[in-house]
Amino acid sequence: MTTRTAASAQPSTDRLGAIDHQDPLHHTEAGPRSTIRREPAGACRVGFTQRRLGAVQRGLGVVAVGIGLAVLLVAALAGCAVSQTGEPGVGASIDADVRDTDNGALPDDARITDTELPGIAGLDADLRAAVTAAAESARLDGVTFTVNSGWRSAAYQAGLLDDAVSNYGSKAEAARWVATPETSPHVSGDAVDIGPMDASSWLAQHGADFGLCQIYGNEAWHYELRPAAPTDGCPHQYADPTEDPRMR
Ligand SMILES: [Zn+2]
Repeated sequence: MTTRTAASAQPSTDRLGAIDHQDPLHHTEAGPRSTIRREPAGACRVGFTQRRLGAVQRGLGVVAVGIGLAVLLVAALAGCAVSQTGEPGVGASIDADVRDTDNGALPDDARITDTELPGIAGLDADLRAAVTAAAESARLDGVTFTVNSGWRSAAYQAGLLDDAVSNYGSKAEAARWVATPETSPHVSGDAVDIGPMDASSWLAQHGADFGLCQIYGNEAWHYELRPAAPTDGCPHQYADPTEDPRMR
């Protein structure tokens, strides 16, 4: 289910932004360099001007391509942030006293081993053990798990749902992303949202070995424990939570 508040989504965007130091525009700063050769005036001079114009045009072309790439990069990163965290804006208006660690909100770099955090401590022990084992195995592959959301209090979940309804404009659309406090597996401690994307990709490949399964096609980050998965594989995914009988 949807997992992170906008407050926590924001820094993750920043984090993504942090890898974006290679500004494509930067490479064009030097611009077209004119190597001025002493030549007689007249035709040669015109030739030089044309060459220079051509260079400037090429330079502008590079800048335009650079801007295009930058826009695409930002869009792609925004897309990552969205897919990692659920929809942007969810949780933005939740009262600060609900969006706190006691209610299950997690810092950006929360690990499954951070059991001093209620959002981690409140998870089902078997689920936590499975994620811990998977995280350890992933670490050997150079992949680090971040727990974007784990256990949440009913009040926190209710706040997320209220926010989703106002963001999506309808309860029906909100239900595709955010469960009620009564039905959310996060409230019962039976779900974790794992990021960043390389971690959820790792889980998609290896999670079943640990009994960890993606449940919803639209939530690549949301994992629950399915103890039979190591032998039987993960069950068929629901397209989104509205297909899940538990949500009714
Ligand atoms: Zn979730």
